[in-house]
Amino acid sequence: MSFASDIKNELIEKSELARAMGGMKECCIHAEMYGIFLFCRDFSSSNICIKTENMEVASLFASYASTITGRSYNLEQTSSGKYRVNIKKAEERKLILEHFGHTGQEVNRRMYRSNLEDECCLSALLRGAFLSCGTITDPEKDYHLEFVMSHKVLSNDLLKLITEIHLPSEDGSVDYARKEFDPKYILRRGVHVVYFKDSESIENILTFMGAPDAALEVMGTRMYKDMRNRVNRKMNFENANAGRAFNAAYRQIEAIRFIEEEKGLGFLPDDLRELATLRLENEDYTLSDLADNLKEPISKSGVNHRLKKILETAEGLGWKG
Ligand SMILES: [Zn+2]
Repeated sequence: MSFASDIKNELIEKSELARAMGGMKECCIHAEMYGIFLFCRDFSSSNICIKTENMEVASLFASYASTITGRSYNLEQTSSGKYRVNIKKAEERKLILEHFGHTGQEVNRRMYRSNLEDECCLSALLRGAFLSCGTITDPEKDYHLEFVMSHKVLSNDLLKLITEIHLPSEDGSVDYARKEFDPKYILRRGVHVVYFKDSESIENILTFMGAPDAALEVMGTRMYKDMRNRVNRKMNFENANAGRAFNAAYRQIEAIRFIEEEKGLGFLPDDLRELATLRLENEDYTLSDLADNLKEPISKSGVNHRLKKILETAEGLGWKG
């Protein structure tokens, strides 16, 4: 199952539990219903229909429609494996539209604020909207959560609603001046998309809608990815350093072999000859290893200085390293 589907199932499960336990206010139940209907594919006097890959969402839509009309509705399965619930009778569509203050004749599909009684209802409405028209990418691949709709005005209403959300801080206080969310908008192949691209907003909006487990999962993935990136950067850095050291040692050995062939190592003064021999015999030695293994240990920079002199000697003899 997709990550998006898992989240929708979590949202539905938690919402159903809250309703069953009497933990959801009537105003919020109404707002959640409104979110599902308003953001579904068709919501007009000629058509009210949801089409979704998630069976639980389709069932919830059908059960909410039933609570309004008193009829029951079947889930149909489309050829592409999606689930569809279609309110076929005009009088039943009318009942649903009127339930939310819509006539079904509106030119633009808009969000009627009369369906939101209080701030508590924002979360429920957004959850309904996400169930109907939302999707989220697996955070392993990318951070992306979006709401997709075919009405520009509705997308504006949603953008505005999201920017009105206020999250309580840890001590429970609410800062009404702070803007919690900065959703983005894009017109993509004729549909209007309201979306988030940063993991922190996605974590917060998931928590706000009522999917804290999913939010934790996104957060966990983000932390894991951050750590993995840090480790990779460190390893690349160390590999690059090791590579540089290896190249330097290789050059030194080439130079020493050249001197040996041209003049013999006896050509070098004692201090350089000792180091040259040590270098030849221990290709894997670092500068500190070399420094520590001289008869009279010297500093790393002292070793470096002597190696430079060896290279210069080789060059003086015609080495083109
Ligand atoms: Zn409410």
